[in-house]
Amino acid sequence: MAGFVVAGGGIAGIAAALALAGRGHEVTVLEQAPSFEEVGAGIQIGPNGRRALEALGVWEALEPSVVFPHSIRIRRARDGATLGELPLGTTFANRFGTTYQVVHRADLLAALVEVANANPRIILHTGSRVSCYRADDGGLTALLEGGAEHAANALIGADGIRSRIRAQLLDDGPPTFAGHVLYRALVDMDAVPAAVDTNSVNLWLHEGGHVVHYPVSGGRKFNIVVAVNENWHSEGWSEPSDGAILGMRFAAVAEELREMLTLPDEWLRWAGADREPVGHWGQGPLTLIGDAAHPTLPYLASGAVMALEDAVVLGREVEREPADLPAALRAYERIRQPRTARIVRSSHRLAGVYHAGPPLSFFRDAFIRMTSGRRGLERMAWLYDWRP
Ligand SMILES: Cc1cc2nc3c(=O)[nH]c(=O)nc-3n(C[C@H](O)[C@H](O)[C@H](O)COP(=O)(O)OP(=O)(O)OC[C@H]3O[C@@H](n4cnc5c(N)ncnc54)[C@H](O)[C@@H]3O)c2cc1C
Repeated sequence: MAGFVVAGGGIAGIAAALALAGRGHEVTVLEQAPSFEEVGAGIQIGPNGRRALEALGVWEALEPSVVFPHSIRIRRARDGATLGELPLGTTFANRFGTTYQVVHRADLLAALVEVANANPRIILHTGSRVSCYRADDGGLTALLEGGAEHAANALIGADGIRSRIRAQLLDDGPPTFAGHVLYRALVDMDAVPAAVDTNSVNLWLHEGGHVVHYPVSGGRKFNIVVAVNENWHSEGWSEPSDGAILGMRFAAVAEELREMLTLPDEWLRWAGADREPVGHWGQGPLTLIGDAAHPTLPYLASGAVMALEDAVVLGREVEREPADLPAALRAYERIRQPRTARIVRSSHRLAGVYHAGPPLSFFRDAFIRMTSGRRGLERMAWLYDWRP
């Protein structure tokens, strides 16, 4: 059996470790942070994500903290009108054979880490920042800041949107700022006014921005994400914010939404970024996974789920070609490239649609009204029908 090193212990990195260790390989995960903790708030997990979690053996550990929303409600921010609704209950489960769920990112990472910790083939190192890699005879060595080295038969770059492994491999510059800033906040469910719909994923469309909210952590917390067309002037890619701009941007909206945006005392904000998809993201016994391979804007709510799908396919292809890891990794990339490229490009296009003003917004709203309910489910089948 081969030995793998995974650079990065986020959702992609731990999922990759589980998929490879599940096939009998030894895996060392190198995470730069001092502990496995997720910042950020909610993650929506469609049926494809649930199937991937089941294949990785993580679903049981996660299930107690997931929430099953009633529907995805698409609303016009100006007056709160419901433009369309995607049912997520029995109709949805009958169509896709499984459920749609929302979860706190920290709960998802904790479940992945819990299962990884129980697997003797996986070693998790925190406080280990990979600076680069070196090709050796018969494998690769990850070089850490501080001088430590980890040699392996193959290296998986799971170090996120600003991946150092990708930078060394592809040298294709930083990700592209998309002209949107994403604000995320979590509030206690007790603080949410009764008028706010907390049973469904609500997506509010407004000129120049949109808002998504849903419950997480078994319904104890309420997750709010806001995207606005805005420039980014800070040095880093994320920072705390008081969200003052949101009150101005969403001044002329339904009372329910305006009130809700005043709930958080503090927000974290991110520069929304992605990359034009590339045809390949590996070489020899090296490949990328998750955001390192195909960073995306979050408007199809699919970045983390793609990372989970990637891991399942990676494990399967390595099982098929255990004696030729480069061939297995190229097969994994070939399988994943078209689907992830479609998701990245669709997410990018959706930003323009969600943030449109008149007259485009009239056509958009009419289209949403026409394709609501069951027809809406069929429109999402290309995404949700994925099976391991
Ligand atoms: C506002 C917002 C909402 C979202 N909503 C959803 C959603 O509903 N559904 C969904 O599926 N996705 C969603 N996503 C996308 C999802 O969060 C990401 O796609 C996912 O977290 C990517 O996981 P990853 O492990 O590839 O990268 P990351 O989560 O970035 O993890 C990378 C890890 O590598 C570590 N690392 C980085 N550099 C190094 C290094 N040099 N050495 C060692 N370790 C390193 C980092 O510390 C980190 O732990 C959303 C994203 C945003 C911004």
